[in-house]
Amino acid sequence: MKVVYSPRYAMALPGHIWPTSKYRRIAEALGLGHVDPAIEFVQEFPPASWEDLARVHTPEYLHKLRAHTLTPDEIATLELPWAPAFADVFRLMAGGTIAAALSAVDDGGAAHLGGGLHHAFANHGEGFCPLNDVAVAVRVLQARRRIQRAAIVDLDVHHGNGTAMIFERDASVFTCSMHQEHNYPLFKPRSDLDIGLEDGAGDERYLTLLAGALPRVMASGPDLIVYLAGADPFEGDRLGGLRLTKSGLAARDGLVVAAARGAGVPLVTVLAGGYAADLADTVDIQAATIRAMLA
Ligand SMILES: [Zn+2]
Repeated sequence: MKVVYSPRYAMALPGHIWPTSKYRRIAEALGLGHVDPAIEFVQEFPPASWEDLARVHTPEYLHKLRAHTLTPDEIATLELPWAPAFADVFRLMAGGTIAAALSAVDDGGAAHLGGGLHHAFANHGEGFCPLNDVAVAVRVLQARRRIQRAAIVDLDVHHGNGTAMIFERDASVFTCSMHQEHNYPLFKPRSDLDIGLEDGAGDERYLTLLAGALPRVMASGPDLIVYLAGADPFEGDRLGGLRLTKSGLAARDGLVVAAARGAGVPLVTVLAGGYAADLADTVDIQAATIRAMLA
């Protein structure tokens, strides 16, 4: 299986809760630098072009990213210590999701050790997410006639607000978000299927609801499933409050993989969030997600 990764994702974010070193650590946990016949790391891939980004984002917003003219308010909404060079890193990350999605369609499955920036809207970024890589990848594959329909299974602990809004009136893309209801973002535009869980929901309730949701996702008839495998539903996460255990998260991954395989639909996994008090836990959880795709 191809796993897309770039060392350039390790942006310096002093004092920030987003551990951008996780990408390299997950790659290493999966055998980067070793000979592993199960995984083929892809480290050379093009950034998303500005034209491809424009399939999702507005010209005005892209111009600000390109000309480095984001306003202080816009940077505050992003909640990132913004540096102009970041625009190219996030463009590369969107390219990584495109590359992984193309590989998934070719091979049945692929992963991107990055992406899942679901809080980015067409005309602005929010919550660590300047560009919506998942939405861009879906639109690029549609434009290249590689897929007609897609389904997005967003299991990050936070609602996929940007993605929901971008595809609100697009019948070719089924959006599903399962998240902690009383958590960021406050404003939750409607996905095609939203499951907002109570605080501290735990493994059993989560897995029961997910098992009920996946057949509805598959019934939308997707040609590709994009799985946002956020590690932040974990009980040790600093930004999440759903209290899933590692075994619960592994069972979650297993349900998604089995649903895609059972329906014969290509699956591309992106990492999304993960803010465990101990970074090693986030690395464990997200490496396990990728391994679940190899099983
Ligand atoms: Zn999150």
